[in-house]
Amino acid sequence: MKETTLNIQMVDLQSQYARLQEEIDAAVLEVIRSAAFINGPAVRDFQAHLEQYLGVNHVIPCANGTDALQVAMMATGLQPGDEVIVPAFTYVATAEVIALLQLRPVMVDVDPDTFNITAELVEQAITPRTRAVVPVNLFGQSCDMEPIMEVARRHNLWVVEDNAQAIGADYSFADGSTRKTGAIGHIGCTSFYPSKNLGAYGDGGAIYTDDDELAQQLRMIANHGQNKRYYHSLVGVNSRLDSIQAAILDIKLKHLDSYAAARRAAADHYDRAFAGIGQLQTPVRHQRSTHVFHQYTLIVRDGRRDELQAFLSSKGIPTMIYYPVPLYEQEAYQKSMANGIGKLPVTDFLCRSVLSLPMHTELNEETLEYICAGVKEFFK
Ligand SMILES: *Cc1c(COP(=O)(O)O)cnc(C)c1O
Repeated sequence: MKETTLNIQMVDLQSQYARLQEEIDAAVLEVIRSAAFINGPAVRDFQAHLEQYLGVNHVIPCANGTDALQVAMMATGLQPGDEVIVPAFTYVATAEVIALLQLRPVMVDVDPDTFNITAELVEQAITPRTRAVVPVNLFGQSCDMEPIMEVARRHNLWVVEDNAQAIGADYSFADGSTRKTGAIGHIGCTSFYPSKNLGAYGDGGAIYTDDDELAQQLRMIANHGQNKRYYHSLVGVNSRLDSIQAAILDIKLKHLDSYAAARRAAADHYDRAFAGIGQLQTPVRHQRSTHVFHQYTLIVRDGRRDELQAFLSSKGIPTMIYYPVPLYEQEAYQKSMANGIGKLPVTDFLCRSVLSLPMHTELNEETLEYICAGVKEFFK
C-alpha cells in the first residue's frame, strides 16, 4: 500500500457542515439577531419536530446527554441505596449519574454479539433493592427491549433508556409494530454531542417520555425545580439547550434518516470487505432493530487488536477503542458498586478486543477502499 494523501478522520464534521452551510449559517445568524438565546422559538420548534420524529408526546431539551440521564434518574424519585442495573460495557455517564445521586449501579455483562444487555442478564441481577434498569442502545442499535420491558413490568422497575448512540433506530415488537429507540422505556435520554448521530455544534441533550405527569416533573427538575417562575417546589438543576444549538439541530434532524443510510452503506462496505477474514467479527445486527451505526466496531480475535490498531495508524487510518476499561475496573466506581464483582467475561473480552473504524456520513468509496485494503493487508 502506498502512503495516503487522504486525510482520514474518525468523524468528518467539516464536510458535513459544508453541505448545509448556507442554511445553518442563516439559522445561527437569525438567533443572534433575535437575541432569543435561551428558550427562544428555535428551541420550541426543534422540540416539536423531535417529538414528531420520535413519535413521543414529550421532548424535554437539556444541556447534554449526561444531564438527560441525571434529570431522568432524579424524576424516578429513587432513594439513596436503591439499585439500578446498568451494562458494564458502556460510556461512563450511564453509571456516573447513578453514583452521583447516591444510588447503587449494579453492573451486568452484555451479549457478545450485540454488546447490549439482555432480559436474562437483567433478571439475574435483580435483588429486593432493584428499582430501575438503564438499557444502553450501544453503537447504534436497540437492546432487545420487548423482553426487557416484560421483566421490568414483573419486577416493577423503571426503565430509563440511554439512547445517546442510537437516535433514529427502529425497534420491532413481536406483533410487527415498531417504535423509535428511546421511546420504549418510561424515559429516553439522548445526547447531541457533536460526534453523535444527531450532533450539535456544542453540547446538547434531550429527555423524552409519553407520560404527561412525568414530563412535567422532568421539565421542572431541569429548570431549577420551579413550576412557576421563582417558586421552587423541589431541588432541581439548570439544564437547557440553547437556541443556537436548537436551530442547528432542527436543520440536521431533517437529514437524520439520510445520515443513517450513509452510515449503513459504509457499514455494508466494511462488512463485504471483511467477510473472509476469520480473525474479525463484523457487527452483528439484531433482527429486531435497525442499526444506525454510531460506531462500526469490530472484534479482533487472537489478541491482535492493539497490533492492528498500530498497523492502521502507520497507514494514516485512525481507529478508536470504545471502551478500553470495564466500568467495574474504573477507580471511581470501586466504592459505589452494589456488590464487589469479579470480571464479567464478555465485557472483559470486549474491552481487550474491540476496535472501531472511521464511521461518519461523508465516507466516500475511495476512503472506504483504502481503509479496507489496510485491514486486509494486516491479515494477509
Ligand atoms: C455520549 C454519551 C452519553 C453522554 O452524553 P454527553 O452529551 O456527552 O453528556 C451518555 N451515554 C452514552 C452511551 C453516550 O455515548
